[in-house]
Amino acid sequence: MSEKEREGSEYEEKRTLETSGEPAEGEGSLDWATERPFFVIQKHDASNLHYDFRIEVDGVLKSWAVPKGPSTDPSEKRLAIPTEDHPLGYADFEGVIPEDEYGGGVVQIWDRGGYRPLTDADDQSDTIASQIENGKVTIWLEGAKLSGGYALIRTGNGDESRWLLVKTDDEKADARRNPVSTEQESVKTGRTIEEIREAESA
Ligand code: MN
Repeated sequence: MSEKEREGSEYEEKRTLETSGEPAEGEGSLDWATERPFFVIQKHDASNLHYDFRIEVDGVLKSWAVPKGPSTDPSEKRLAIPTEDHPLGYADFEGVIPEDEYGGGVVQIWDRGGYRPLTDADDQSDTIASQIENGKVTIWLEGAKLSGGYALIRTGNGDESRWLLVKTDDEKADARRNPVSTEQESVKTGRTIEEIREAESA
């Protein structure tokens, strides 16, 4: 069993044990994902509101929690805390997680779409997986809300290390936009976080 498979099965086990209310692997539809690989940003109203930024890499969703959410302004550096890999099907999950389980809270699909790795096509060893390993990931997003280049950059060493999510300065950069505050509806259902919470507690 590979390292990845082992991590995957431990993840499944943990989720089963915690009966989290999140969908198990494979439950979520990927029919919406006409472009591959894809990314998803899930707004997660838990004890601390954050945006889970996830990208499809080698069959899993590599994930970072971004407390302030993504910016379209290249001068804004947003803290991005690495979190555990999620199964691809989780990209379709929107709903309420029971308070006492798996962090709890309300999850909304804030944005999603295809992405293109901005890797060096002439360099076989330059993959998104190796970029994550090396602490500098560059991708081009084609989402409903976000588009253009984004970089995830690891700074510092050891305990001091942290990741930042930054908009690349390209034609899609726009310092006047602030989609986190002005575009709050789900790209899957059009619902706000409050509407998801109300619908599911009714
Ligand atoms: Mn989360």
